[in-house]
Amino acid sequence: MTISSYFSATYAEARAKFLEACAAQGLSVENNLNDKAKGADGESLYMDAVRIGPEKAAKVLFVSSATHGGEGFCGSGVQVGMLREDMLNNLPEDVAVVLVHAINPYGFSHIRRVNEDNIDLNRNFLDYDKGLPENPDYAEVHDMLVPDDWNGPAFKQAEKDIQDYIEKKGIGTYQQAVSGGQHIRANGLFFGGVEAAWSNKTLRAIVKKHAGNATHIAMMDFHTGLGPYGHGELIYVGDPNGLSRAKNWYGDDVTSPEAGTSTSAVVRGTIDIGICESAPKAQATCTAIEYGTKPILEVLNALRADNWLYIKGDINSEQGRDIKKQVRDAFYGDADDWKQMIWERGISVVDMAIKGLHAEK
Ligand SMILES: [Zn+2]
Repeated sequence: MTISSYFSATYAEARAKFLEACAAQGLSVENNLNDKAKGADGESLYMDAVRIGPEKAAKVLFVSSATHGGEGFCGSGVQVGMLREDMLNNLPEDVAVVLVHAINPYGFSHIRRVNEDNIDLNRNFLDYDKGLPENPDYAEVHDMLVPDDWNGPAFKQAEKDIQDYIEKKGIGTYQQAVSGGQHIRANGLFFGGVEAAWSNKTLRAIVKKHAGNATHIAMMDFHTGLGPYGHGELIYVGDPNGLSRAKNWYGDDVTSPEAGTSTSAVVRGTIDIGICESAPKAQATCTAIEYGTKPILEVLNALRADNWLYIKGDINSEQGRDIKKQVRDAFYGDADDWKQMIWERGISVVDMAIKGLHAEK
């Protein structure tokens, strides 16, 4: 059995492998149906969760996949592999692991980063009573991101405008403006939404059930699309005081967007907020692991193309199929060497998280 066999080509295949691997371990899975959407082949969509380890464990690690839909091939492969290889069968007596498979099953199935409401879930975990954060820079780039045509004159003009913007302000400012998150253009990129999405509410319920009274929690949320090919950057998120603890667990190469050491832009409304609020008594050590696929501009362009396709294009055209492939390649390094790198780093950081939790007093 090769490592590549843990990874899948579709959401439906990934889910089947996950459920099969859980069944082989005798684990019962909680199936949370998303009745607001259907999959690319008309299939039903679920956020599945399974708990492994002592029932009374007060320390809980959440290992999650597909917060960003089509990025889920990566995290799902690691989740399936850990089950198949019995890696979670000898947990310390005080630690439980909850695998959350497909936080955004719509995006996973349709191979999109967004959910069924065009929402970027990692911008959606906000307190909506307090008003929405502003990203005025986004308004400036929106029209360049979503031109009227793709590969026509409007596209060419938009390319030129983006180049001018980057030359004038730098690629970092461009990345922050585009991907920092925005709540003003519901059809735009990195839209955080104006209310809690289904995935937001569902994830909170799962965490509350398993860690409502936990003393310590950790999050390992799998992502792709930033950084060098196959490299797994561990990004610390949450209370800045916890960064030193994360470095104790994982090593000094843990990065932080706030500290300017990460390939990620600074973003608000990330899923760790929902996890922490659902486990209010716990000391939280939350990280995302971000694996590189393609260079940043290629990834951002793939997301632009995806956005354009669903607003203005035709998914069933040749152009539509080309764009779907472009997006898939931005999310998924569908090659054996990439999967090997994902796997080795993935199981290593999960192991460090378990040991880190166990060592905390
Ligand atoms: Zn992501």
